[in-house]
Amino acid sequence: MHKHITHLTPEARIELIQGDITKAQVDAIVNAANRQLIGGGGVDGAIRRAGGDAIEQACARIRERQGGVETGNAVITTGGNLSAKYVIHTAGPVWEGGTAGEPELLASCYRESLRLAVENGVQTIAFPSISTGIYGYPTEKAAAVALHTVKEFVARGVPAPTCIQFILFDDVTYRCYTDALTQL
Ligand code: ADP
Repeated sequence: MHKHITHLTPEARIELIQGDITKAQVDAIVNAANRQLIGGGGVDGAIRRAGGDAIEQACARIRERQGGVETGNAVITTGGNLSAKYVIHTAGPVWEGGTAGEPELLASCYRESLRLAVENGVQTIAFPSISTGIYGYPTEKAAAVALHTVKEFVARGVPAPTCIQFILFDDVTYRCYTDALTQL
């Protein structure tokens, strides 16, 4: 398994890991969800299968309360049967060529997820590569946005998780993130 660690500050580090996010030993994992919070394929399907019915029940309550989650926003639920205590569900943008506000919406996914994490006392968090599967966001571009946004969040000097992992499923995605990290 590939793993790459970079310290952003003495207290906060980014870890790039190739693997399956459902296995992450962290306080919270982030789900690349859809706006309806209805089970999908990709990482969403994997998280729901591994986490079990408690996640679906929590999503159903959020749907009843507020309809779902807007693109660029995030909500938090239990992690159910996962090792992670929480799942943070964020709706990434669908790639439409890059001129429909996709970079800002993707950055917002990472910021809002980190904000919810801090609010809930999360010290360690794992992200997948949001929007780069079914939603078609080019992975090199998404990697740059993801890492830049996390770095900015940590640099603000207000509380942030101490360990921020990116768990990247395939080799090509892992390489895009390691390349983007060296260019940060
Ligand atoms: P989106 O709809 O936001 O594009 P997808 O789930 O289709 O979300 O894909 C996002 C990324 O998650 C892709 O790189 C995909 O390969 C990856 N992925 C799929 N399953 C897992 C998993 N179990 N752990 C980590 N990443 C995963």
